[in-house]
Amino acid sequence: MKIYQCDQCEYASVSDKYRCPSCGTGQLQEKELSSKGSVYSYTDIHIAPAEFAHLAPYTVALVQLDEAPVKVTVRMSSGVKIGDTVDLDHLEDGAYIYSKC
Ligand SMILES: [Zn+2]
Repeated sequence: MKIYQCDQCEYASVSDKYRCPSCGTGQLQEKELSSKGSVYSYTDIHIAPAEFAHLAPYTVALVQLDEAPVKVTVRMSSGVKIGDTVDLDHLEDGAYIYSKC
């Protein structure tokens, strides 16, 4: 999992930005971290947007990464509970597909 972390403050994100949006002064440094994390919150999607309708019902989770103060929105390959340990299974059309460890 590639993340971008500010060299001046604690800000980190999975998307690259020219300048840190938190402190406004830092440069974001690219880091390669473990994709492992824990479920911070989740939602079961029963009525999906058209492009994901064939996948419904499915679970979208907000995962707190273990190695950085970053939360990532992912699609789960199975149901989860808050606090479950999860890891990246594969990428699908640019989406992170996670499964339970
Ligand atoms: Zn910063």
